[in-house]
Amino acid sequence: IRIAEASETEKNTLRSPICAILGHVDTGKTKILDRIRKSKVQEGEAGGITQQIGASFFPVEELRRKTKSIPAAQRLQLSVPGLLVIDTPGHESFANLRSRGSSLCDIAILVVDIMHGLQQQTLESLHLLRVRNSPFIVALNKIDRMYGWEPHQDAPLRDTMKKQEKHVRDEYDARVQKTITEFAEQGINAIEYHKNKDFRKYVSLVGTSAVTGEGIPDLLMLLVQLAQRFMTERLTTRDRLECSVLEVKMIEGLGTTIDVILVNGVLHEGDEIVVCGLNGPIVTNIRALLTPKPMHEIRVKTDYIHHKVIYASQGVKIAAPDLVDAIAGSSLYVVGDEIDREAAIDLAKKEVSDLNRYIDKSGYGVFVQASTLGSLEALLSYLEQVEIPVSGIGVGPVHRKNVMAASTMLEHKKEYAVILAFDVRVGQDAARFAEECGVRIFTADIIYHLFDMFKKYVEDIEAEKKKEAMQSMVHPCKIKVIPEYIFNRCDPIIVGVEVLDGVLHVGTPLVIPTRKNLDVGRIQSIELNRKTVPTAKKGDQVSVKIVNRGSGTTSEIGKDFTAEDVIYSHLTKKSLEVMRTYLSDEMSEDEIRFVVEVRKAIGL
Ligand code: GDP
Repeated sequence: IRIAEASETEKNTLRSPICAILGHVDTGKTKILDRIRKSKVQEGEAGGITQQIGASFFPVEELRRKTKSIPAAQRLQLSVPGLLVIDTPGHESFANLRSRGSSLCDIAILVVDIMHGLQQQTLESLHLLRVRNSPFIVALNKIDRMYGWEPHQDAPLRDTMKKQEKHVRDEYDARVQKTITEFAEQGINAIEYHKNKDFRKYVSLVGTSAVTGEGIPDLLMLLVQLAQRFMTERLTTRDRLECSVLEVKMIEGLGTTIDVILVNGVLHEGDEIVVCGLNGPIVTNIRALLTPKPMHEIRVKTDYIHHKVIYASQGVKIAAPDLVDAIAGSSLYVVGDEIDREAAIDLAKKEVSDLNRYIDKSGYGVFVQASTLGSLEALLSYLEQVEIPVSGIGVGPVHRKNVMAASTMLEHKKEYAVILAFDVRVGQDAARFAEECGVRIFTADIIYHLFDMFKKYVEDIEAEKKKEAMQSMVHPCKIKVIPEYIFNRCDPIIVGVEVLDGVLHVGTPLVIPTRKNLDVGRIQSIELNRKTVPTAKKGDQVSVKIVNRGSGTTSEIGKDFTAEDVIYSHLTKKSLEVMRTYLSDEMSEDEIRFVVEVRKAIGL
């Protein structure tokens, strides 16, 4: 076992700012990360990047080296020791870097594909950045995809821009402008970074290519600049411990471990810690504080270096007993001078119960299940934004008991008898039970896919409801018997009629207002030019068969009424309700006026 000691500089300097990368799928987040991580070993320069748990550390010398091609960067005073970049891009890892609802991520890179502009997950990322109040910069990636682009490896943006042909520069300008407009639609002021005079008001945009490395120096410079400007104060406070669980992992020989980002403060081997667990807070002691061994020490037998003490900011693996049920996205608390054990347990409990504020007061809503506290929170705040009420929440796999809870919605609102499961397993038993009782489980690992599935489901239910309602609805209609075409006077009445207004449907009950709302009977069939049809419209002359009214027989033409009488469809209150709910958008003014006429005539 190799044991590393913390150096004096580690203890004394500012902590490093933490940076996460977010954006829509396939915009190049991973590629950008790879590109900035790619250390040019062959140049033999000092200060390489170190691989940590869940993050890569860029020492300030490395940042200097990578940005030296930009004059503005040379003037930068750098007091931060470096930059800690989270290795797993995407808003889930950003979401898990949380503590008591606020972000532990100091700065973020939002990657936008310059060829596509803002996309669905860009909006989700923006929402999250805004909720967490995180400063960020925007990488407009894939500039090399623009037609006619001449690549210049690793060049600063302005240098390569100058060397492009005019039509390429014009296209770039146009795309930047378009993106700025799209950001404005989201209520965000964006501007090209070299024009940005006020980082608090404007978000900086920088064109990049993860493939050629163009614009990457600018991106790094911006990150450091942003960190330096706003965070010096934030980065100096060492007193308060801030530590967040990024992942829970089973490691052979170590058991269940947690990968954490120590954002602020110090961790010691042996510390008593508290984290959230699936079944309540977990209290345990740190058995080992581990970081990966450096690349050049591959001959060392163990995979990890053990530490007695770790100073922020760093990504560390913690081995400790009883971590099996630990929840990613949970804060880690150290029992000590700052808080005692009881207080730590309370804080851990509160972290989960705080999310109950997303539960709808009405008691009606969908059920939400997510893999981590961070993603649960992200999903909940998204659902709040799109106004989907939530009635139950949970972390971890979907179990039978979750389905049971969701099934209570079946009798109230069928569309809420749904579990939106984000990045979690659904137990077989749970799936079977859901199938049996009619609870729908939607699983996805992209928030908007869940949203789309749910939306589609609600629409389908609505369409089904509409279909059912329309089938039983009485449509407004007015007809008159044509005296020459009376074939049978009653039981059934078979006559020719003209549709004076509205649409005549099979099934329509008929009534004569001028004869004290005489119940004539119900349309059984309609024939137009000897062909059976389901409906007849205004002006049509059709022959109809009218059968049983309420009493089982029809009225008799010539006895109870005559061909002179205007006959109406017998509108019902329920039908009016259906019209109001489903048809009001489709109905013309004339149709609406006609409904009023029928209502008046039959006294509804
Ligand atoms: P992520 O899903 O956002 O992490 O996207 P990836 O980094 O996996 O990239 C998605 C695809 O786009 C891959 O095929 C990359 O090679 C490609 N890609 C990423 N960045 C660039 C770029 O700057 N230029 C070009 N031409 N392709 C890129």
